[in-house]
Amino acid sequence: MLQLINVYKNYTVDKKPFPALKNINVAFGESGFVSILGPSGCGKTTLLNLIGGLDHYTKGDLLINGKSTKKFKDKDWDAYRNKKVGFVFQTYNLIPHLTILENVQISLSLAGVSASEKTKRAMDLLDKVGLKDIAKKKPNQLSGGQMQRVAIARALVNDPEIVLADEPTGALDSKTSVQVMDILKEVSKTKLVIMVTHNNELANQYSTRIINLLDGEIVSDSDPLKLEENKTGDEKLKRTHMNFFQSLSMSFKNLLTKKGRTALTAIASSFGIIGVALVLAIQNGFTNYIGRVESSTAASLPITIAPYSTKTIIDEYKSYVPYPDEKEIIVYQAPQTEEIITHRNYITQEYVDYLDSIKDDGYIASVLYNHDTLDFNIVTQYGNMENAYIKVNQYAGANGMSSVISSISGLPSSIFYELYGEEDYLRTMYDVIDGHFPQNKNEVVLVTNKFNQIPLNTLYRLGYFEDFDNVPETLSFEDIYKKEFKAFVNSNYYINPQQTTVDAWQLDTEYMMADLAAQQLVHEITGKEIDYLHAIRHEDVQKTITTYSTRNVAQLYNDSSLVEGKDYLNIKVVGVLRPREDSLLSLLPNSIGYTRELKDFFVEANEKSEVTQNVSKNWYIPQDEAAWNNFIDAINLFIEGQTNVEDLSETDVMSMVNGMYKFINATGAELNITQFMNHCKVLGAELPVDRKIINGEIEISAQNITEIKNSLDEIRDNFVNYLAYFLGYSRVTSIVIFPATLDAKAVILKKLDEFNKGKSDSEQILYTDLIGTITDSIATMINVISIVLIVFSSISLVVSCVMTGIITYISVIERTKEIGILREVGARKTDVGGLFEAESMIVGFISGVIGVLATYLISIPVNLILNAQFPDAAIGNIAALHPLHAVLLVVVSIGLTFISGLIPSRAAARKDPVVALRTE
Ligand code: ADP
Ligand code: MG
Repeated sequence: MLQLINVYKNYTVDKKPFPALKNINVAFGESGFVSILGPSGCGKTTLLNLIGGLDHYTKGDLLINGKSTKKFKDKDWDAYRNKKVGFVFQTYNLIPHLTILENVQISLSLAGVSASEKTKRAMDLLDKVGLKDIAKKKPNQLSGGQMQRVAIARALVNDPEIVLADEPTGALDSKTSVQVMDILKEVSKTKLVIMVTHNNELANQYSTRIINLLDGEIVSDSDPLKLEENKTGDEKLKRTHMNFFQSLSMSFKNLLTKKGRTALTAIASSFGIIGVALVLAIQNGFTNYIGRVESSTAASLPITIAPYSTKTIIDEYKSYVPYPDEKEIIVYQAPQTEEIITHRNYITQEYVDYLDSIKDDGYIASVLYNHDTLDFNIVTQYGNMENAYIKVNQYAGANGMSSVISSISGLPSSIFYELYGEEDYLRTMYDVIDGHFPQNKNEVVLVTNKFNQIPLNTLYRLGYFEDFDNVPETLSFEDIYKKEFKAFVNSNYYINPQQTTVDAWQLDTEYMMADLAAQQLVHEITGKEIDYLHAIRHEDVQKTITTYSTRNVAQLYNDSSLVEGKDYLNIKVVGVLRPREDSLLSLLPNSIGYTRELKDFFVEANEKSEVTQNVSKNWYIPQDEAAWNNFIDAINLFIEGQTNVEDLSETDVMSMVNGMYKFINATGAELNITQFMNHCKVLGAELPVDRKIINGEIEISAQNITEIKNSLDEIRDNFVNYLAYFLGYSRVTSIVIFPATLDAKAVILKKLDEFNKGKSDSEQILYTDLIGTITDSIATMINVISIVLIVFSSISLVVSCVMTGIITYISVIERTKEIGILREVGARKTDVGGLFEAESMIVGFISGVIGVLATYLISIPVNLILNAQFPDAAIGNIAALHPLHAVLLVVVSIGLTFISGLIPSRAAARKDPVVALRTE
């Protein structure tokens, strides 16, 4: 039951109100066929649109089943149109890109009816209007009469109470008009049909009631119904809504009708995505590459624990002005090594045990403990010469390249060196090209470079040749294996101990030694007795020392009384290792590598040997940090005890250094300053005293004294190494740690830091993570470059964004009619907006996918070219878009088109349905 009460409708024309409907009072029943007649422009369509809720009255009220519509919101009107009203237009108003069936179903979708139910209802109605067979056709394949019958089916599909038809036969010939009218007549038996027409004949033939309209007013009504203004109802209408997938599928079908344009837009838009994707791909490729380099070099360039760490040179220059303008050279005192040493690592058994526990947890692939210059006393035949033998100088450098690297990495570079790592681990970098990996302590391998080369010099030192003439160009593996090496423990190489009694220093406790040193030096130089120290003259103490000679190597080699496995080991080359083709860094020197078991054998044998014990007693070597500190303190005490250091003469300095030397060398032998300095030089230390001071040409200064002080640590260290070298005495001076994996490295570093927690500065053991520092900075660099490139390529994204916005806008204009139809069947503003958002996002999705696929395609030749360009670098796929990035880029593309679709889709939502329907 519909009632219009005092309804007015004004349009604004030329800024003045134009009354299209004036004081309309009319009521309609539940069923019947009502025709509204009147000349063109009298307001028929306006009235019909008001009744159908497409347009709204200016004044008055429309009662739906007694309920006032004055308070209706847009959504209520939408629901009303969807549930209660079905429209039939003169121009059919079908959506061209949907099939007949889909056109009929459209209002059901909005009402949230299930798919099967939708099809059933729509097919039933198409059957009724006689179009069942062409349900899959598109509107443009139909005749006008057929289209109008589809429109009627659409109007009826939601089972509305009212069917509004605006000149439904206006565009049809008389024959088809009759078909349409018959259907409407049939409908009017159960529903209210209101038809606008100016065809009096048809109206008279089919209507049950005729209303005449003129200039916006009802002039006659053949069967007026009494108004029942006071009857109130409160009918609730379920609101309509289109879900996102309906919008998507509708938009997708629309886009399919203009494939070419959609494809072009998507391709054009994809360029921005391709730009960003390529940058991301390359960034990812590089990051992967660095990761691979890092994992493979995590092994080859390990974490090192050096004897000491130094401060950066930068700190040294803090007091100077950088880039001065003055045209002058600044003379400055360059720092001595000792001065820039910030920390010394005293490697303790506790630390070694700690590392072993980390290794047991599986984080460490292997640990190399460098026992500085531990000598195995290796003797072998001198080339092919009968009965001629040489002692192999195992610490001779194996090759130049590795010594450079070893100076950075702490890896060995000698011609007889410890293999760093066990078999499994080394096999990741090396192939065993012949023979086998060492299985016993006396088995060693020859490690070649990738060209199977071994330097002549190395082979000569290993005793393979007796001279450099007539050297063959190649040696068979058999020739290599044939060679016999014998390695002798110290007690068999050093013989003939000689006991001598010498004047010596009191060797009580380490602390006493330090005191004594200071007292003696002070006494010798100044002649003064210092009250609080009790001097003990070295003449008061006699000491027996032992010296040894080395054995003739030929006799040693052929001494049948010696026992293999105890006195010596027969060392055999059992295999040949060569770097794998895919190995990025293989740093074993091209020479002979032995296993840790061999080293352990000699460390144990030599440390316990009498010769080592005896000879080391000839020297004063502070064995731990506390002892060493006491020694240094004593020297300091002596120097600071001088009332006036400037007064020290050349003789004073000579006495001082001689005192030191005598103190260190228990024989107490006197040396002149030159001898002493030469001795230090042999040990690798240079006493920083100007030769002019020594020659008495100039006086010693406070600065000289400081320099002498500073060089003490260095002298000490060199002494220890020197002794170690010729005594085979061993001491862990540096450690090289090979992480099992890159991730494990992080854990190891954390654990090494943990070890230092709560320890005093001097007890801490500091490490260097060389490769980490380098790769971190490269990674940062790549990220910075990538960000810049992404910002640049994002500009093209903005362009694509604007472009999709424009395309969507064009689509809105093209589909204005469709917007009207959708609103007519009950779609809300947001549904219409969503439709265009969906369209623009589909374009975004397609362009995102195109962009990503194009990037993957472009990556193929890029990678091929790069790999062909740098065949040795094993760079892998540098352009490698990460799948996650690919997905993200598609999402970003959709997001961007969503933003660019906002404006056009809002414009679509705001369109007045009446105006939209009138658009052609
Ligand atoms: P009919 O359907 O009877 O031919 P209409 O209802 O379409 O007439 O129009 C009634 C009058 O209202 C006409 O004079 C028309 O020009 C005017 N009119 C209709 N729609 C609008 C509008 N949106 N703005 C201004 N005037 C309008
Ligand atoms: Mg009209």
